[in-house]
Amino acid sequence: MRIGIDLDDTICRTTEIVHDRIEKYAALENLNPLDIMNDEALKEGFFRVYLEDIYANVEIKHEVTNVLKRIRNRGNEIYIITARSSNFVSTVKNVRNITAEWLKKHDIEVDEIIVASYGDKKAEMCKKYHIDLMIDDDPYNYKKIIATGTKCLLFDDREKYNLKDDYVTNWLQVEKYIERNR
Ligand SMILES: [Mg+2]
Repeated sequence: MRIGIDLDDTICRTTEIVHDRIEKYAALENLNPLDIMNDEALKEGFFRVYLEDIYANVEIKHEVTNVLKRIRNRGNEIYIITARSSNFVSTVKNVRNITAEWLKKHDIEVDEIIVASYGDKKAEMCKKYHIDLMIDDDPYNYKKIIATGTKCLLFDDREKYNLKDDYVTNWLQVEKYIERNR
């Protein structure tokens, strides 16, 4: 199987590190942390300072390295498909390299890293790369991806969505699903 995997909040704890860095930035700049995400200029200022740090230091989720290694050893291919983009803020020049370094640091081997793909573009990339199964935490991506006929699991380890089908809350469930459906 060719498996597409989202990065942020799917294999790593992006929301947690963003919140942590917002607290730091707010203290440093004497701002209310709640204001930062609600103001475009403040938000951009924050990401200009912290985005590279966030991408480099975000924590990996439970079991990801082991599960991905086993999935790949069984002959499946792994494609990282992420919305991360070098155009987002000018301070992060090479999102692909930062991401590749992070994957290497966590001992994750992949076949391809595809950046700047969100919503329709992500669904299009799934088609272009003949992805058999995509795993993503974002319900908007999930809807776009299944609408174009690519199978998708909504990854929700904070159990926000609670769908009946195509729904997983940890990486061992992802592995079981792939084993059942090959
Ligand atoms: Mg995500």
